[in-house]
Amino acid sequence: MAVKRVFCNVCGRAIEVRNGIMREDVFEAEKEWGYFSNKDTEIHKFNICEACYEEITSQFKIPVKVIKKTEVM
Ligand SMILES: [Zn+2]
Repeated sequence: MAVKRVFCNVCGRAIEVRNGIMREDVFEAEKEWGYFSNKDTEIHKFNICEACYEEITSQFKIPVKVIKKTEVM
């Protein structure tokens, strides 16, 4: 059984992955920076665990937009 590890970039904690499935849900970010940034041609990727996500987003001046899946369907 293949065991690969994903890390939370904020706290450094390992998130267990078994058979390509994360045993814990994480926030996965990927940003391809464009011409109007100082990071043109760079792609930035990071993961944030749920606990760190809560801590970071609770400091937002404007809260995260939350859409319930049942409202979309
Ligand atoms: Zn974390």
